[in-house]
Amino acid sequence: MFSRKGASEEEVLAELEEKTAEDLTFGSGRILGSMCTYPHPFAQKIVMKYIDRNLGDPGLHVGSQKIEEEAVEMLSSLLGLEKGYGNIVSGGTEANILAVRAFRNLADVEKPELILPKSAHFSFLKASEMLGVKLVWAELKDDYSVDVKDVEAKITEGTIGIVGIAGTTGLGVVDDIPALSDLALDYGIPLHVDAAFGGFVIPFAKALGYDLPDFDFRLKGVQSITIDPHKMGMAPIPAGGIIFRKKKFLEAISVPAPYLAGGKVWQATITGTRPGANALAVWALIKHLGFEGYKEVVKRAMELSRWFAKQIKKIPGVYLIREPMLNIVSFGTKNLEDVEKELKRRGWGISAHRGYIRIVMMPHVKREHLEKFLGDLREVTVH
Ligand code: PLP
Repeated sequence: MFSRKGASEEEVLAELEEKTAEDLTFGSGRILGSMCTYPHPFAQKIVMKYIDRNLGDPGLHVGSQKIEEEAVEMLSSLLGLEKGYGNIVSGGTEANILAVRAFRNLADVEKPELILPKSAHFSFLKASEMLGVKLVWAELKDDYSVDVKDVEAKITEGTIGIVGIAGTTGLGVVDDIPALSDLALDYGIPLHVDAAFGGFVIPFAKALGYDLPDFDFRLKGVQSITIDPHKMGMAPIPAGGIIFRKKKFLEAISVPAPYLAGGKVWQATITGTRPGANALAVWALIKHLGFEGYKEVVKRAMELSRWFAKQIKKIPGVYLIREPMLNIVSFGTKNLEDVEKELKRRGWGISAHRGYIRIVMMPHVKREHLEKFLGDLREVTVH
């Protein structure tokens, strides 16, 4: 109800405390199945300080717009591209929609089709519905990466693009992006890489010596990449990233926004008014942590996931779906639904889908939390 008379701040805060008491918090170490984390304290300060900045009207906030451009440049360089074009957006969903939109707008076909792995995130379902693009699902191989031969077999006159995933939502699998890139070049079709999760993991894991496929703009067939700072980048929600190799992709999705207080601009994002503070926080975090800082975060997460995978294998009746590639470990059990229900009842923030439970070693997840979780899992799976 929209109350007639206002309440005091204390009263409102007390009610909020009571109502959010049901929420799980990242600090509790109970959230094991999320790709988000507690935002870095420095980023929180930035958001508080610049909370009023609106990138939807960049003529007013010229400095913030330049910082967004610099943040895009920083992400581009992490992804092997000197100059990229894109935006800090609301998340991986918006970034993926923008990529599909750019591919569709540039392709001159009547019935556009997009080929994507069966492991792709559901954001592509939204893109498909909104943009009138048919999704053509490619099969997965036994290792859960996309079957590149099947992708090739599904290319038609109407194919506007191919999607590869660098860090699948369920298993953290990195597709054979080099092979997809070759295919894209052979057929003259753009390749979009959904690295919403893996973008802030793979470059650092590779530097640490983990053997992972190349996935970024160093591969010439890759025309766009989704990379989300609000996942392993530790930026406050919302902060996604879409980077295009060439300006033409951004131009193909830009519309004139004539009435803004700061003057006419071109806008490519789905959202109009959008938070400048979050883009500034992305910029500030990258400056503050640098490559070495993120590498440390990823080192911990990768080591923890290898340790956790080993422990999972020791529990009778519990099995790994596959060896982890990134910092995601997924396992199955008998009576998975009952196990899920009981773990949730015990206060764990996990969920089962596609026949397994996924644990994401985000920065807030510590070994002691996982030890407690393993204890519960052992109890729950004893028959
Ligand atoms: N792409 C991948 C691979 C994801 O795992 C996710 C989210 O989990 C998304 C896209 C969507 O990101 P968001 O929830 O930020 O919109």
